[in-house]
Amino acid sequence: MSNDVLNNLLKEYEQKKMKAEIEAENKKEILYDKIPRLRKIDNEINSYAILVTKNILNKNNESLSDFSSKMQSLKQEKENILRENNIDVSYLKPSYSCNLCNDTGYIQKDNYRSEMCSCLKQKLLDISFNKSNMSNLNVENFANFNENLFSDEPNASKYKFNISPREKIKKIRDKSIEFVKNFDNPDYKNLLFTGNTGLGKTFLSNCIANEVLKMGKTVLYQTAPVLLENIIDFKLSKQKYNSENINKSVLEADLLIIDDLGTESLNSMKLSELFTIINTRILNLNHKITKTIISTNLNINEIFSKYEERIGSRIAGYYDIYCFFGDDIRFKNR
Ligand SMILES: [Zn+2]
Repeated sequence: MSNDVLNNLLKEYEQKKMKAEIEAENKKEILYDKIPRLRKIDNEINSYAILVTKNILNKNNESLSDFSSKMQSLKQEKENILRENNIDVSYLKPSYSCNLCNDTGYIQKDNYRSEMCSCLKQKLLDISFNKSNMSNLNVENFANFNENLFSDEPNASKYKFNISPREKIKKIRDKSIEFVKNFDNPDYKNLLFTGNTGLGKTFLSNCIANEVLKMGKTVLYQTAPVLLENIIDFKLSKQKYNSENINKSVLEADLLIIDDLGTESLNSMKLSELFTIINTRILNLNHKITKTIISTNLNINEIFSKYEERIGSRIAGYYDIYCFFGDDIRFKNR
């Protein structure tokens, strides 16, 4: 996630916040004109607040209780006036779009720590899902796929396969194209790309994403650690709206790409979320056809031992498994 994205969002927040505060200020002025006593009360409250601060700074504690009772009676009078005029106290407060952070994007925690508000997290998530993670889409497409980066020499003892890495990657590319063509066929399986880093798993996933986007479908790309972390974060924050939103996009995106499965730190909550995602999407429980691509360094046996049996068996049964092998192509000229 680039800093520009965050900075731009924070600028938007600042403008939103300012707008809400100016609107509140205007409403207050209109009310002051109607009920001049309110302006007087507010001015008095403000000057008392300044006096109290001064006295605290000068360690003059004696007069403090005096001030506080005066403040109290002024506030009471203000409340009474508002009530008599049928005005809710909240009417004079700025109406922020997020009541948690007052449109600052951050929440103050204890010890003066601040934490990113869930509303900002959600915005970043939306952007990261569909933009920054797939920013290479104009480069990473089938037209730019270069099988010549892969060795054409079979080496059974090194790779444990009888065919060359080039022959293998061409097969996987063809299967990927077939996957796109059969996207709407519910009987056509999902994809599991397994193999070491630097063998083109993400590249091929992006090639597919490109084609699927061209078909006007939604694509959601995320690494397993970020995906699971975010889902749990929102669940625990008890923000029903955000949590439901994220769940909905993860479960209902036409194509979900889960990259780097196996690099996340696991716990039982994450395991159960992962199962829900995989299972819901396989069974098309959302009454629509959804496909999933998982890429991982783990082989299917390792998936069975690292994850629950039910996750392993769903993948083994409903995913076409393609093994990437060869030498790291990341440093070769494309
Ligand atoms: Zn917020």
